[in-house]
Amino acid sequence: MKAKDKAFIEELGGSADEALLSRYAYRVSDYLKSKLANRSSNDPLVKQYIPSASELEQSELERDDPIGDGAHSPVKGIVHRYPDRVLFTPVHVCPVYCRYCFRREMVGPKDGGGAAMLSQEELEGALAYIASRTDIYEVILTGGDPLVISSKQLDFILSRLQAIEHVQVVRIHSRVPAADPMRVDEKMLSVLSRFEKALYLAIHINHADELSMEVRGAIKQLRAGGVILLSQSVLLKGVNDNEEALEALFRGLVALGVKPYYLHHPDMARGTGHFRVNIEDGQALMRGLQGRLSGLALPRYMLDIPGGYGKVPLEPIYIRRKGDILYEVVDYKGGVHDYPPKK
Ligand SMILES: *Cc1c(COP(=O)(O)O)cnc(C)c1O
Ligand code: SF4
Repeated sequence: MKAKDKAFIEELGGSADEALLSRYAYRVSDYLKSKLANRSSNDPLVKQYIPSASELEQSELERDDPIGDGAHSPVKGIVHRYPDRVLFTPVHVCPVYCRYCFRREMVGPKDGGGAAMLSQEELEGALAYIASRTDIYEVILTGGDPLVISSKQLDFILSRLQAIEHVQVVRIHSRVPAADPMRVDEKMLSVLSRFEKALYLAIHINHADELSMEVRGAIKQLRAGGVILLSQSVLLKGVNDNEEALEALFRGLVALGVKPYYLHHPDMARGTGHFRVNIEDGQALMRGLQGRLSGLALPRYMLDIPGGYGKVPLEPIYIRRKGDILYEVVDYKGGVHDYPPKK
């Protein structure tokens, strides 16, 4: 690592420890460098991107593959866990490396020194798999970050998916609009807007401070290009684990035409214990936001079950049985009501 990068990390209160940096990839985009400069070590953006000595602490419960992708990969570049949809990962690098990343053992330039992008042959193999499985209705491009590939490569992949009749929906999951918004350029926009099937883009973003002028500009252009915008966030201790932060983020997104889709409970990735929130605390946050935010602004709170069993909502339960025909329902202020109501 360059002395300049080390100094940058240390100025922001992070750790440039060799063991840490050789274990987990580090990268911030030039755009982010300018945004991070002069912030404090407690800042929600700094925490997301600047390596911390806490990453060297591991618990026995943490895993290399916390959501069990490996168990469901029929060919390189594909994870097929649910019958109707697959993850398609053409690339394993990102524009930035998030310190809490659930795929941190898989992403980054290291990965055995292999190519960042699937080879042409591997891409063909993944596309052939999608073409052969007529139950695949939705393809989710993820990574790494699929929006770091060239617009030409993106065009190639989208045109091939366009031609597979049973694929009706394509979803892209990307950190690019929030972490490197200048990459959303004319070329990318023209490729995305040429795609004729339903195209959804889930923007990975965790804090309202990430909604800078540049990020807002990128979001506006994507919307104008006909892309349907969603967001996904990770619930992170010290970054966004309070009602005010989540409210500001979700309101900010909805006002830009982005529907908050998922709030992920943090996964059991190695060295991420300092980011982990209790499930009860996450549920209490969701309870607090229910009623306070419109349905448009409320994402689902999700857990990816370790071992590859898929995602389940962790939302609080508002109804319980009280007798043979009666239930008890709790409203958003905590009031308890019978259902059906007593005469
Ligand atoms: C998360 C995930 C999906 C997408 O799940 P949705 O609930 O549809 O957003 C699909 N496949 C795999 C393997 C996943 O991990
Ligand atoms: S962009 Fe996604 S895959 Fe890449 S480091 Fe961040 S969380 Fe991990």
